[in-house]
Amino acid sequence: MPSSSGRTGTRCSALLLRKTNYRDADLIVTAFTEELGVVSAYATGARKSQRRFGGALEPIHTLRLELAPSRTGDLLSLRSAKLELPRLRATTSLRALEAAGKALEWIRRGAPPSSPEPMLWHLITTFLDGINETPAEARRDLATFGMGLLEALGWGLDLERCVRCGKGCDRSQRAMADGARGGLICRACGGARLILEPAMRQRLRLAVQGQRLLIEDVEASLALVAAVLERHGGID
Ligand SMILES: [Zn+2]
Repeated sequence: MPSSSGRTGTRCSALLLRKTNYRDADLIVTAFTEELGVVSAYATGARKSQRRFGGALEPIHTLRLELAPSRTGDLLSLRSAKLELPRLRATTSLRALEAAGKALEWIRRGAPPSSPEPMLWHLITTFLDGINETPAEARRDLATFGMGLLEALGWGLDLERCVRCGKGCDRSQRAMADGARGGLICRACGGARLILEPAMRQRLRLAVQGQRLLIEDVEASLALVAAVLERHGGID
């Protein structure tokens, strides 16, 4: 949805990444917005004002935020928040809640501040819609989302060749992969602990384009995503 500016501030579609209590009634909110990327904002009186916030500051749902510049350094001012697209079914499933929490944490750790990320916005909202539809598939969808997230952030894994010496690895062969080093590591370069069978390597490549992974791919995919984020995003 397009943003609109003016005396009322900028309106953005957003996902809540974190909220921290401040003083008696205030909040500091970090959100991934469609229009501005990841931003942090100060919400005066947010814990008391039903009219301006109405309990809308919850994760998983798409929110409509009204943001304005503020005088307090890097923080924007959050004037109001309401639910734009609730995903109520996902909030009733522990599996979906855990998967959504992990996906939003990845974005908080990996996405650069104040930089719109349209591909990542598309991926995360599609993922959240999916787990709202079928919460039982949440972990598999999280693994698929993770591969897309790496690509969207420019940290896509090289699953075709050794990232150290550049030697290609035939698609019919098993391969060894190391997320922290960005992809495959051939035997001559010392190899890596994670073994990818040819079919799984193919599915990981296609997951970047949105094709769903299988249950048996989930652990390998999550480990790769975690290793890449550890390297690029630091520990938080
Ligand atoms: Zn090599």
